[in-house]
Amino acid sequence: MDKRSIAIIGIGKIARDQHIPVIGKSDRFELAATVSQRGIAEASLPVFRSAAELYREMPEIDIVAICTPPGPRHLLVREALDAGKHVLMEKPPTQTLSEFEDLVRHGEARGLVLFQTWHSQYNDAVERTREILAEEGVRSVRIDWRESVRKWHPGQDWVWAPGGFGVCDPGINALSIFTRIMPMPVFVEHAQMAVPANRQTPVDVEIGFRTADAHGPALSAHFNWLEEDGEVWTIAIETGTGRQLSLERGGTVLKIDGETRVAAPSEEYERIYERFAELLDTGRSDVDGTPLRLLADAFMMAERVEAEPFDW
Ligand code: NAP
Repeated sequence: MDKRSIAIIGIGKIARDQHIPVIGKSDRFELAATVSQRGIAEASLPVFRSAAELYREMPEIDIVAICTPPGPRHLLVREALDAGKHVLMEKPPTQTLSEFEDLVRHGEARGLVLFQTWHSQYNDAVERTREILAEEGVRSVRIDWRESVRKWHPGQDWVWAPGGFGVCDPGINALSIFTRIMPMPVFVEHAQMAVPANRQTPVDVEIGFRTADAHGPALSAHFNWLEEDGEVWTIAIETGTGRQLSLERGGTVLKIDGETRVAAPSEEYERIYERFAELLDTGRSDVDGTPLRLLADAFMMAERVEAEPFDW
């Protein structure tokens, strides 16, 4: 099968850690160019300083993966759709819901494939958990999402600027699993966000959720960005029949009553590109905004408290 040519826009950590190597071993895609403000090329491939240059110089490339921070994404995706390109977007999709909805409408109007990736959803353990909760119901969910900002976003000041999400940048990965596995809609009941005195976005977040049932399950989440002892990306669940589920390692491992039932190496980005190929083959978009909406609700509901100043 012929490989589809794709260009990556924004050559930062995630482009280098995942997109470039995964495209490199894909039998469905071939990296044809990069767009990098700093001029970062991949091997001997053409590199352009702006997307406009790419579209002008290599019009035959009709697929782009946008791997910038969410800030510039709305305009970049608009520009790509206007140029007739199919688009894959990194998470979180945009800084606001209005921007996201605009992109969904614009992609539809242009008849192009728009793919909103939520990488943490691409795990068998997540899918198995979703099936179990659909059958057994749910009594409680506790999300515990802790990692080091210094390790995962070294020197990236955009995460601390307004619209940069703070610890909710990784936290939205947990919410993308949560909204995928829950058998009913969930709502933010209360939230507390601790913001370093010298920054604009939270370093520590606690969220309480509810369902439409006043006597529904107990649901909560904690995100922290100062965990220097390795990552804790865990979701503890009690099902409606009393079984204890533990989704661990970012959704790659599922334990049931203490026994490991699913454990697979993370192949999230391999699966993302398989899914993208499928969407391109069938001309369909995949644009789930639920995790972003839930997070936006948390920001609307949050009590804000001051935390210690943060410096790299
Ligand atoms: P990053 O290292 O800061 O890289 C982003 C790149 O985008 C920059 O290096 C820059 O590359 C380009 N860029 C274009 N416009 C920019 C702007 N206005 N401000 C800053 N950079 C701009 O960020 P990242 O960690 O790769 O994260 C990018 C996206 O991937 C985020 O939405 C993040 O949530 C998501 N993500 C990150 C991780 C992770 O482990 N860090 C994991 C999964 C998903 P050029 O100079 O080449 O243009």
